[in-house]
Amino acid sequence: MPAIKPSSIRDLKDRIGIFDVVSREVALKRAGSNYKGLSPFTNEKTPSFFISPDKEIYKCFSTGNAGDIISFVMETERLNFVEAVEELAKRFSIELEYEEGGRPREDRSLRQELFELHEFIASYYHEAFHAGDEGGKWIRNYWTQTRQFEISIADEFKIGFAPVGGLELGRRVTKKGFSKESIEACGLFYTRQGINPATMGYRFRGRLMIPIRDHQGRISAFTARQLELTPDDDPSREAKYVNSPETPIFNKSSLLFSMDRARMEVDPDTPFVMVEGQLDAIRCWSVGLKGAVAPQGTGITENQLRLIKRYEPRVRCLLDGDRAGQKAALRMLPLALAQSVEVTFIPLNEGEDPDDLLRFEGAAALDALLERETDAISFAADSIAPSIDSLTPQAKSKAAAELFQIISKADSETTQIEFVKQVAEKLNIDPDAAIRDYRRFSTNQATARRPKQAEKGVQNEPITRKTVHTVERDLLGLCLNEEEIGYRIAQIVDEQWIDTSSLEGELLNLVLNAFLHDMWNGPDSLNDQLDKTELKSLAIDLIFQKPEYDNPERLAEEAIKRLVTKFADQKIKKIKLEIAQKQSEQDFALISLFDEIVKLQNIKGNPPQLE
Ligand code: ATP
Ligand code: MN
Repeated sequence: MPAIKPSSIRDLKDRIGIFDVVSREVALKRAGSNYKGLSPFTNEKTPSFFISPDKEIYKCFSTGNAGDIISFVMETERLNFVEAVEELAKRFSIELEYEEGGRPREDRSLRQELFELHEFIASYYHEAFHAGDEGGKWIRNYWTQTRQFEISIADEFKIGFAPVGGLELGRRVTKKGFSKESIEACGLFYTRQGINPATMGYRFRGRLMIPIRDHQGRISAFTARQLELTPDDDPSREAKYVNSPETPIFNKSSLLFSMDRARMEVDPDTPFVMVEGQLDAIRCWSVGLKGAVAPQGTGITENQLRLIKRYEPRVRCLLDGDRAGQKAALRMLPLALAQSVEVTFIPLNEGEDPDDLLRFEGAAALDALLERETDAISFAADSIAPSIDSLTPQAKSKAAAELFQIISKADSETTQIEFVKQVAEKLNIDPDAAIRDYRRFSTNQATARRPKQAEKGVQNEPITRKTVHTVERDLLGLCLNEEEIGYRIAQIVDEQWIDTSSLEGELLNLVLNAFLHDMWNGPDSLNDQLDKTELKSLAIDLIFQKPEYDNPERLAEEAIKRLVTKFADQKIKKIKLEIAQKQSEQDFALISLFDEIVKLQNIKGNPPQLE
């Protein structure tokens, strides 16, 4: 990764205000010296997101997310550090300086260009959709008559039409000056014979074009529906839908169609709705069912569930009534349980799809559908054991075992046991016996899997340590909020008194050092020193949660007293242990140890006062 000069990063941070960065994403209202708004990291109704323009930091009290302009862009745009700095530089027209040998990363600029290229191409297709020519008339008729959508919906989603001949698109793209790399990488052209409008091949011809946007609303691919106009020489003529291939900006298994819109609409009253096709999702949107998303013609993946969970952990699946739909649902279930995403199912009848159901009756059809809604376990039990009453005891055990397999993926034992009880009721078996069976099943599974689990445990160890209310934390609160006192604390606190094995201790040490060496210029100076995000987030926590006190000096002295006492007590305990072990040795070996105890008791009795 190319290194940007630290001085250049500092310059960028000096020149860009956090208000200008955040207000693009969040509607901010003044709140004292801060501003507040709805958190961009979660879907909330009461604002818990604050920025402090003085300190150039933000803090989200519902997710704990906190940081500066760079981490804000990293978090909201899913970029790495360098990418985020480059994005800010671009946005605010700031020239960056790189370390010797470091160049702007190629694929970053390629990604950027690919988004621009997709937007450009989508505009072209959309223009063709509205054109006055034969093709335009045909496609609008298809949209409004065959599919029964309003033109305004086509405009909202930037629906387009790929004319049968690609030449015009080729001309425009090359004329506009898009790079060879981006034209090759976007996957929309066949360029084996070079980048020449006349000799290039065109992936989409004679199809209805649906732009696929990522969760930030950037067009990153297309899906194209076959039409009567689709030419016979289209190599995928028979495929009803053709998607863009995977590209640096399109990873179909981690993207959900329409998530850019749906995420703005969901909240605890309206879970996401998962449908199978893009046009189903657009139909849902058009009848006012705003939380609908769709995968890109593949099964639902762990990444997609994780994306869902960032906004709202409940999803209602409206999957097609065919076998494939059922299978897809069963495959997704364990993944959802593992992610603690709560899934319910609305089973559709064979041949029904949400588009058809909602087309004529609109959102009212949903009420009828909701009556069929079943929870995950009932759904799974119904599909694994459709006719329970006629099952033999062995067949019931077998069905139970299959369900246990799914249940065991849930990430909490309490949930697992609740599910087992549900299974017992569903299969009409004794719940206590079912729980015993389940425990045996999961012990067997655990033994079989131990090494793997252990590996996983290490990887998944949470990075945030528990914050306890330590004396170090109190001192930090003072140092970060009362600089003058912080400076005086730094003069009298001995580094060895601080327990640096805790996060608070580590940060306190850093801060006091900065005071001591005159390197302190406000909390912002922490940004340069804190490469650990957990330290940074702790610092910001403490700045926002300014401790309550009347007399900061007295608080400081009390805290120092506690710090010294804690240190001295621990040390004395250690020395006594040592003395006990050395009883047999010569007296003089012990004298220095006793000496040390006296010294420790002394500072404990007379903790230093602020100067
Ligand atoms: P329509 O209403 O236009 O007939 P549909 O959504 O009802 O389409 P289905 O055949 O039920 O179409 O397919 C469901 C979804 O699966 C599609 O919307 C599309 O996302 C995906 N899909 C179907 N066929 C393909 C294909 N050949 N390649 C990629 N994805 C496909
Ligand atoms: Mn359909």
